[in-house]
Amino acid sequence: MQTCFTDAQLADPETASSNGILRTCVHCGFCTATCPTYLLLGDELDSPRGRIYLMKEMLEEGGTPPASTVKHIDRCLSCLSCMTTCPSGVNYMHLVDHARAHIEDNYRRPLSERLLRSLLATVLSRPRLFRTAATLGRLARPMAPLLPGRLKGLAKMAPAALPPRGKVTGPGLFPAQAPRSLRVALLSGCVQPTLRPSIDDAAVRLLNRHGVDVVVAQGAGCCGALAHHMGKSAAAKDLAKANIAAWEREIAGDGLDAIIVTASGCGTMVKDYGFLLRDDPDWADRAARISELAKDVTEVVAAVGLLPPVIESGRVVAYHSACSMQHGQAIRTEPRALLASAGFSVREIAEGHICCGSAGTYSILQPDLSRRLRDRKLANIEATGAEIVATGNIGCITHLADGGARMIHTVELLDWATGGPRPDGIEDHSETDGVGTELDL
Ligand code: SF4
Ligand code: SF4
Repeated sequence: MQTCFTDAQLADPETASSNGILRTCVHCGFCTATCPTYLLLGDELDSPRGRIYLMKEMLEEGGTPPASTVKHIDRCLSCLSCMTTCPSGVNYMHLVDHARAHIEDNYRRPLSERLLRSLLATVLSRPRLFRTAATLGRLARPMAPLLPGRLKGLAKMAPAALPPRGKVTGPGLFPAQAPRSLRVALLSGCVQPTLRPSIDDAAVRLLNRHGVDVVVAQGAGCCGALAHHMGKSAAAKDLAKANIAAWEREIAGDGLDAIIVTASGCGTMVKDYGFLLRDDPDWADRAARISELAKDVTEVVAAVGLLPPVIESGRVVAYHSACSMQHGQAIRTEPRALLASAGFSVREIAEGHICCGSAGTYSILQPDLSRRLRDRKLANIEATGAEIVATGNIGCITHLADGGARMIHTVELLDWATGGPRPDGIEDHSETDGVGTELDL
C-alpha cells in the first residue's frame, strides 16, 4: 500500500513503524474472510483491510479523526485473526495499537464514554480496587435493569458471588515438590485473582509438582493490556515498567528461567513489552529481555513434560483457543496435546478461529457485537457435545461462563489429572475418575 507521510511525520518513531506496516499490505483482502466484525456486519470498513485504509488516512492527515473512523476502529476486537490469515505478514496489532493511541490523544469522546474508559482503566488494573468494585457490583446486580446504558451491562457482568480467596494471594515463593528443574515467576495479574483464584492455585500446584519453583514477585501486577487497548499508552507503559523492575529484582536474586502467564491476553502483552518500550533508552533492552522470558504456562509444562495422569477421566473437553493464545502468541498445539496426554478426549469447536466477543473491555464497550459473537461461540460449543470447555484466558472464561458454558482453565484440568483437586464445576464421576490428592502449598 502506498503511503504519503511527510519527513516530519516519519521522524516520529510510532509513525515510521506504522508506515512500514502499511506498506506491507497488498490489499488482497484475504483477512476479511476471518474477521469477526466483517462476518457479522458485512461492511468493508469493519474488516481489517477497511480499517487499514482508515488508519492510514487518519495517521497521514493527523489531528482529530472523524467520528466514523473512530467508530470502525472501536469495533475492532484486536483479536488478531487477521494477522494469522494475512499472507504478507502485516502487523495489524502494532498498527491498531498506534491508531488507538492516536484516537485517545486527538479525539474527544462524549463525557460518559470518557468517564467509563477512565473508570475501567483505573479499576481493572488495580487488584484490590477491582475486588472492592466487584463486591459492590455484586450488590448492584439486582438493580441492573434500572441502571442506564452501559452501567446496566457493567452491573450485570459483576459475578453473582465472589469465590473465596485463593492460596496464591500475594508475593512469595512456592517451592518445587519434586527435584527442582526450573525457577519461574508467575504473573498473578489484576482481575483473575478475584474472579478465579483457583487458576493460579492450580498453576502453582501443577508447576510445583513438576519440579518448578514458583515466585510471585513483589511489585508485579497488571500487565497493562487493558489500558493499552484503550489507547492509554502512558498508563500501559508505567504498568509494564513496574513489572519489569519487579522481575529484574528476582533475576538479580535467585534468577528466573521464565515468566509464566496464565491469561493469554496478558501473555501477548508481556511478550510485546520489548516493542512497547523499544524507543525508551532506559527500558528498551530490559523490556526485550523480559519479553524473551515470558511464556504461557502450557509452554513451560510441555517443555518440562507432563507427569502421567493419576485419574482416568476420559472426559470430553472442547478446547477453546483464545484469540490471544492462537493469534497473539501462535500457541496452538501445546494446550491440546497436554489435555490429550492428561487423558481428556479433546474436541475442536467449529469456527475456532473466530473470537468469542470477550476481548478485554470489548464486552463492556461494544456489548451488542460482543453478545452476538458470544452466542455464536456458545452454539458452536454446544454442537461439540462436550461437558467441559477448556481455555487459557480469564476473559473468555468469564464471558462464556456468563452464557452458561462450563468453563475451566486448562491448568485446572492438568492439575486435576496429575494429582490436584477436581475443579469446581465438574461433576463427580468417581466410578470412573481416580481420587485426586491436593498438594499442600
Ligand atoms: S490479508 Fe494482509 S495484505 Fe491482504 S489486505 Fe489483509 S492485511 Fe492487507
Ligand atoms: S483484529 Fe480481529 S476484529 Fe480487528 S480487524 Fe483483525 S480480525 Fe477484524
